[in-house]
Amino acid sequence: MTTLAELTTMRVGGPADAVVTATTRDELTDAALAAWETGDEWLVLGGGSNVVVGDAGFGGTVIRAASRGIERLDGDGVLLRVEAGEPWDELVAHTVAQGWSGIEALSGIPGSTGAAPIQNIGAYGQELSDVLVAIDFLDYVTGQSERLPAADLGLGYRMSDMKAGRQGVVLGLELRLEESASGVIRYSQLASAIGVESAPIAEIREGVLALRRAKGMVLDTADPDSVSCGSFFTNPIVGENFARGLPPETPQWLVDDTAVKLSAAWLIEHAGITKGFRLPGSNVAISSKHTLAITNRGGGTAEEVGELARYIQAMVLSRFGVALQPEPVGIGVEL
Ligand SMILES: Cc1cc2nc3c(=O)[nH]c(=O)nc-3n(C[C@H](O)[C@H](O)[C@H](O)COP(=O)(O)OP(=O)(O)OC[C@H]3O[C@@H](n4cnc5c(N)ncnc54)[C@H](O)[C@@H]3O)c2cc1C
Repeated sequence: MTTLAELTTMRVGGPADAVVTATTRDELTDAALAAWETGDEWLVLGGGSNVVVGDAGFGGTVIRAASRGIERLDGDGVLLRVEAGEPWDELVAHTVAQGWSGIEALSGIPGSTGAAPIQNIGAYGQELSDVLVAIDFLDYVTGQSERLPAADLGLGYRMSDMKAGRQGVVLGLELRLEESASGVIRYSQLASAIGVESAPIAEIREGVLALRRAKGMVLDTADPDSVSCGSFFTNPIVGENFARGLPPETPQWLVDDTAVKLSAAWLIEHAGITKGFRLPGSNVAISSKHTLAITNRGGGTAEEVGELARYIQAMVLSRFGVALQPEPVGIGVEL
């Protein structure tokens, strides 16, 4: 019996009752409609890089989106239709090789293209919403597939209507890129690593991959720090009044006139939790390279992931009064 530990990058989670792998859009549609008809529980998975499933496993059908395909459509710029199961980073590599700019800073993010809108993936100054035109969505409520414009998806910082509860399956994405072999660098750490503010997109991709490798943020079987869900907490957004009461050295970025973004990594470190930290006897620890990543050091359980996550949240809450929100989706486990 397949376990969720085998299907997820955190490598925790008990057995699934059933696993169906869909390799075409039609198979993905049929698998979802069949699972919905039974009334049982169902879960769509791409690369399993943003979920933590409980140790008891999943008592329903896991539908693995493995449909592939990248097609250029007629339209302004470089309009692409990409199937849900296309591995995200292979898509990025392809677009960079073609000289199409727009997603090069999103290099190295694990997982599938179909999951990219779920939390509006972002890194190094780019977000999916910068280039997303629409998605094809099989709606759980209607059982119909429809094309939803990006503006109707509630996309925000690591958020979408789907992440907030709108149920269904993303069958494919339409993205609009630019025919341009150079890109603008909108992230200061990356600009200083590369030394310029605009660069060939191939160089941006390499620069991002190097930074990510140094943080254990690319999947690498040789790197135990990459056995994770990436960043475990989102950067909290708090009211400007509240932020004024924080210690003056707290890093802060203005989001708008009333809201301020804080660094979750800084808050965790300054709540006394250092890289490599683990609770006594636990097989789950903070990455040795990145304070924001919770990692499975081998033989870890979902319960241990939850325990460490809740401990970190409690420490940050008591030190700064800020409630950290987990970025991954927890299924059958309290995060
Ligand atoms: C080392 C590492 C680094 C990471 N770095 C980043 C980063 O820089 N930025 C970032 O934003 N994220 C990052 N992540 C998180 C993760 O890679 C992304 O969220 C990614 O988009 C998840 O894709 P997936 O296919 O693995 O999704 P999964 O984990 O399989 O699923 C995640 C959620 O999306 C749902 N879902 C998946 N596919 C579909 C579909 N076709 N239709 C409907 N729902 C679907 C699932 O049900 C689940 O709720 C990182 C993760 C790791 C392990």
